[in-house]
Amino acid sequence: GSLVRGGDEPEERAIEAALRPKNLDDFVGQARVRQQLKLVLEASRLRGKSSDHVLLSGPPGLGKTTLAMIIAAEMNAPLRISSGPAIQHAGDLAAILSSLSEGEVLFLDEIHRMSRPAEEMLYMAMEDFRVDIVVGKGAGATAIPLELPPFTLVGATTRAGLLPGPLRDRFGFTGHLEFYTVEELELVLRRSAGLLDLKVSSAGFSEIAGRSRGTPRIANRLLRRVRDWALVHGVEQIDARAAGAALDMYEVDSRGLDRLDRSVLDALVTKFGGGPVGLSTLAIAVGEEPETVETVAEPFLVREGLVGRTPRGRIAMAAAWTHLGFAVPDGVFG
Ligand code: ATP
Repeated sequence: GSLVRGGDEPEERAIEAALRPKNLDDFVGQARVRQQLKLVLEASRLRGKSSDHVLLSGPPGLGKTTLAMIIAAEMNAPLRISSGPAIQHAGDLAAILSSLSEGEVLFLDEIHRMSRPAEEMLYMAMEDFRVDIVVGKGAGATAIPLELPPFTLVGATTRAGLLPGPLRDRFGFTGHLEFYTVEELELVLRRSAGLLDLKVSSAGFSEIAGRSRGTPRIANRLLRRVRDWALVHGVEQIDARAAGAALDMYEVDSRGLDRLDRSVLDALVTKFGGGPVGLSTLAIAVGEEPETVETVAEPFLVREGLVGRTPRGRIAMAAAWTHLGFAVPDGVFG
């Protein structure tokens, strides 16, 4: 698989967990969300009650799970982790809710993917700390009310807009996580390198940070691959050249594009003169499914200002020509 998209191997998960900041002060970047959360948590401490429910939105790998863990730690409360896709029946949710202890933090990842009946049960649980358990079917069905201990729900979603209004409204606080700047990623990497006992120069850190697509999870993953490379090559202090050489070998280029990203860009520029070209034609040119091109490669290319979407198809922006080492033709946007 690609290094910037990564996998789900147990070892990766374990290192990821080890690199997680444990409190708000160690959490790098996201200054606004951090400040707002601090206030929410402090207020709940002063009130002696569990905190309002918190919704975290933002692309994968920016620290939603980490923040949920920090919220629980700062509240001195236990944490329960589940996810929308794991809750297919209202009963699944009822089982979780009824086993929560007082003040517990419940983290629901991908909360927008919960089933409809479960979602409706969650409304009442969030608002009144109670659920109705339906027993039996048809005319004989009865609802048995069940009191719940007060708990704090931390929901995570890639886009807050995916949530139905009534659910969104039941969160007392919503934090939007943004992509990290290169400087912030350097701080993430510095911290991780310290934990991994790895010597990296400042220029080495910025080389890795620049290829990390604004995402701490990717930054940490690239750092580990650079660590492997340094070990095998007997390099003790990792400078920009070493970091660059290592990541070139893994086909992560200077802007964090991987092989698929580059082949899309390359086809757009060299085969279609910069476009506009339709998605399916472009996909055939790179030997991929249109959906893969659209959902896997395109979002980052568009965000980076390398590719534009027009009603007549995809176009290469000026930055794309430059990135591939071509002169920008007249009349190209960007
Ligand atoms: P997903 O939604 O895909 O699960 P996520 O947004 O929950 O992603 P996390 O699992 O919290 O992301 O973070 C991924 C990795 O990035 C973790 O190893 C964590 O250590 C690191 N990380 C994330 N945010 C920060 C941060 N602000 N400071 C330091 N490390 C961070």
